[in-house]
Amino acid sequence: MAKTKAELQADWTTHHAYLAKAHELMAAKRFDEAIDLAIASFDYLDGMMSYAKKYEDTVFETVPAIDFVLANAPLRFRYDSLNRLEEVLRAQRGIQRKASQDLSRAISIARNRMQDARALWALIDATANTAQRKTSSTAAAEILVDWHRMGLVRRSPDVGGIGYCLTTQMGETALAKCFNCGVVAKAPKIRLLSSLNCPKCHTDAGFVILPTTDTKRR
Ligand SMILES: [Zn+2]
Repeated sequence: MAKTKAELQADWTTHHAYLAKAHELMAAKRFDEAIDLAIASFDYLDGMMSYAKKYEDTVFETVPAIDFVLANAPLRFRYDSLNRLEEVLRAQRGIQRKASQDLSRAISIARNRMQDARALWALIDATANTAQRKTSSTAAAEILVDWHRMGLVRRSPDVGGIGYCLTTQMGETALAKCFNCGVVAKAPKIRLLSSLNCPKCHTDAGFVILPTTDTKRR
């Protein structure tokens, strides 16, 4: 049964409250909580869009909550959030119908960006003490700027090539996230860098080390 105007308006209010909070969390460098909250706002997305189209004549060239997830998920290796977004779009076809943007294509671009980010993360890790390898791609340069802003990498004059290093130290115990399913595991960083079978999805996709600031908070 179609929702009433009051129900749609309630969705509108809740959706925007969640998204506003997600932006606040992102500004406070609580990145994963911000992404989680944007994902939670999807529950109210279809209702919000219905209300906005019907009563505010809004045209959705893009969908801000989806943009938020697509922009930030690759930087945090949040495969899980892109999978969740695909589920939501499959279950609630109204979202794509009300949006001008090709959302499947946008997700595919985000997935490619995540692959670029993964390769870049491995490169920075590998070059921390040794080589002078360079990255010349624009995509990688943009990701580096974002990571630096987020505090995940820092400039290092000692490092050749791209001149950045990860903010995580080698010896310490670290939290790491599975590339494939997003599950978070705790182990010495040195072990996480070698091939490690994921306890949840049982693939050898490998793990990305989460930065120390996150480790302290959890
Ligand atoms: Zn996994």
